[in-house]
Amino acid sequence: MNLFDVYTLFDVIPVKGQGCHVWDDKGTEYLDLYGGHAVISIGHTHPHYVKAVTDQLNKIGFYSNSVINPLQSKLAEKLGKLSGLTDYSLFLCNSGAEANENALKLASFHTGRSKVVAFRHSFHGRTSGAVAVTDNPKIVSPFNACHQVCWANLNDKDSVWSYLSAGDVAAVIIEGVQGVGGINIPTPQFLADLREMCDKTGTQLVLDEIQSGYGRTGKFFAYQHSDIKPDIVTLAKGIANGFPVGAIMVNPKFEPVKGRLGTTFGGNYLGMAAAIAVAEVYEDEKLEKNSAEIGKYLLDSIKTIAKGSDKIKDVRGVGLMIGIEFHEPMAEIRKKLLFEKHIFTGVAGANMIRLLPPLCLTKDEADRFLTAFKEVI
Ligand SMILES: *Cc1c(COP(=O)(O)O)cnc(C)c1O
Repeated sequence: MNLFDVYTLFDVIPVKGQGCHVWDDKGTEYLDLYGGHAVISIGHTHPHYVKAVTDQLNKIGFYSNSVINPLQSKLAEKLGKLSGLTDYSLFLCNSGAEANENALKLASFHTGRSKVVAFRHSFHGRTSGAVAVTDNPKIVSPFNACHQVCWANLNDKDSVWSYLSAGDVAAVIIEGVQGVGGINIPTPQFLADLREMCDKTGTQLVLDEIQSGYGRTGKFFAYQHSDIKPDIVTLAKGIANGFPVGAIMVNPKFEPVKGRLGTTFGGNYLGMAAAIAVAEVYEDEKLEKNSAEIGKYLLDSIKTIAKGSDKIKDVRGVGLMIGIEFHEPMAEIRKKLLFEKHIFTGVAGANMIRLLPPLCLTKDEADRFLTAFKEVI
């Protein structure tokens, strides 16, 4: 059987990882500024993480959500502390798309409404509801498009109010920082406006922090650069450093009706052991602070390089979530970074290189990229 060929692949076979470094099957070392798409948060094969997951596998690998699993409550307590949302509740699932599905479902149940406001250039995942609120016609089928989605523009209060004012919208869903759409950052004022408009109309504010959360922007959640609190926050990617875990944090006003949400694998022992280990390393190694500091250094340095280059249109980002936008497609530059300089980077559209390194990136590693990047462009 062949693989269903839906991914654009680079000709690299990683077989080993450590920290911000990956080795391929020929022994070549790469600097990883992509983190397997913002997933590797604490670094590859962190010893505390490896031990926690293997120890757990030796104890018990799986049981169902019909019994008590104390690891789930332990994770909830840790995430409450890290996020400051101590009075919120945690529901566990397996991926980002699934987290958003559950958030939208909960908002719809809570309000009895079926419309959702989403933003242009959004990405929220590929399952039916999540892809319906994703602004990309290439991946939204006619079946997905049956959902009642209203499209607003980021940082444009009036475009949101034109829908919310009718009082029939269940939720507004917004990324903490738009990732796939090109590192577009909602202003603190816009988030405050959203909060106010949602409060006025009984609309639930859902913050998708799947990519921008867990320290990526130098705060635990990207929305914490503002003063608001969302009704529901969704999490995945960096939460378990590569073990598939998704989660939603819900405001105490939501009633946990038995059977309303559920999943077979969500909250499983191995995922919980992985996620707890990530939370421990995140705190111990002060990764949030590192993300803010190295992120600022990297962003400022890239901006300086950009000033001397007519190829670069804009550099923007926050923490270790950085987009370098070129006037023209950058595929060749990215290929050179990978095959000549041995540096993994991500993309956001044809013209943007997106950096999403592990949060433990050091200044030396940042410098290695800066030198290579200068040479390549
Ligand atoms: C990756 C991502 C998702 C989807 O997560 P999956 O785990 O791939 O389902 C949703 N929202 C944002 C902002 C993402 O970056």
